Amino acid sequence: MAEELNPFKIAQEQLDKAAKVMKLDPALHAFLREPMRVLEVTIPVKMDDGSVKIFKGFRVQYNDARGPTKGGIRFHPQETLDTVKALAAWMTWKTSVVDIPYGGAKGGVICDPKSMSEGEIERLSRGYIRAIGRFIGPEKDIPAPDVYTTPQIMAWMMDEYSKIVGYNAPGVITGKPLEVGGSLGRGDATAKGGMYCLREAAKKIKLDLSKATVAVQGYGNAGQFAHKLVTEMFGAKVVAVSDSKGGIYCEKGLDFEKVLEHKEKTGSVVNFPGTKNITNEELLELKVDVLIPAALENQITGKNADKIKAKIVLELANGPTTPEADEILYKKGILDIPDFLANAGGVTVSYFEWVQNINGYYWTLDEVYQRLDQKMTKAFWDVMDAMEKYKVEPRTAAYIVAVKRVADAVRIRGWA
Ligand code: NAD
Repeated sequence: MAEELNPFKIAQEQLDKAAKVMKLDPALHAFLREPMRVLEVTIPVKMDDGSVKIFKGFRVQYNDARGPTKGGIRFHPQETLDTVKALAAWMTWKTSVVDIPYGGAKGGVICDPKSMSEGEIERLSRGYIRAIGRFIGPEKDIPAPDVYTTPQIMAWMMDEYSKIVGYNAPGVITGKPLEVGGSLGRGDATAKGGMYCLREAAKKIKLDLSKATVAVQGYGNAGQFAHKLVTEMFGAKVVAVSDSKGGIYCEKGLDFEKVLEHKEKTGSVVNFPGTKNITNEELLELKVDVLIPAALENQITGKNADKIKAKIVLELANGPTTPEADEILYKKGILDIPDFLANAGGVTVSYFEWVQNINGYYWTLDEVYQRLDQKMTKAFWDVMDAMEKYKVEPRTAAYIVAVKRVADAVRIRGWA
């Protein structure tokens, strides 16, 4: 039988596995397998050449038992409703595992922002918010940036929502620029949160990060900051990085500033002088201590999992590892820090941004990092404790921690 690669089916399979181990009540289990609300919208956009193009968008509000739903918006040509549903489910478990008072959601628009002008992207962003406007709000559902959406796009979206409701509503969206209510520390929050997990994971397996080698797949927000921070915070050596066009390898290590400059100049990390070009598949199988998938779903599968040589996999991307691969990594003794724990730093600082917007009182960078460190460290060890208690791999352990909190909220509210 072919391996299941539909992300929503994978998300359901992951939940099923945890539900069985934790003996979850069948009605609660059935409820948590499906999103509570799915919205599909059609967005007409005036293009620069005078034509009108029709775009399709989605917003999935998975579960709001623990608080308003929260989750990013992706602009991607291959976006599908099932991907958005899976990501909304993962947001539910993510906000729960780090114990912030939110449910999970996700949004997406099928589009290719790389082929659109700034004006077209602005009109699409505002059109999407007009389409979903009455379903979101600071106490209902709070979007944020994700793949190919930026702080500038968040500013347009917040502005459009504020126009609809007739007052300034910065708390409707997070990941905004500082000038319009963003939080210090939001830019590198996902990677920074991942680094706190990595620091604790290294303690657990007694790995000296100052001597460790690292490979990073994906060189966007998550991947670039992972390269920068793993070097800055621990003195680790990043020997390989990649983007959608391919990867580069250098045994001596890659200088963050120089690789970034090369990517900004040429549009890709490939052909960086003094390095060897490698494929994305080769990058995953390198003999490194830490592997950081920071690109797209389904990168580590039943086909390549037994070739992974890293000691720790830090999943900054969402859904990079399939359930079949999970089992293989676990049997090989690789500590795979699951996506919804490893990349929860972004949503945690988003939560801090929302708290600051609501209070109208803004924190220092140190305050943000200190609170992020506390949340991530506590979540990491909650998951490690569940892993030991239930004798399961880290993803199922993270599910058990997260699902229990959501299930308790659903039960206490009297829904199921
Ligand atoms: P981004 O758009 O900034 O960057 C994506 C990167 O992945 C780009 O460098 C692109 O070239 C690369 N890429 C695309 N296809 C690839 C392929 N087939 N092989 C290798 N690289 C490829 O996105 P991002 O914000 O860095 O997000 C990356 C991942 O991290 C996604 O799974 C996203 O859901 C997840 N994530 C991001 C955040 C965040 O705050 N940015 C938070 C949580 C999770």
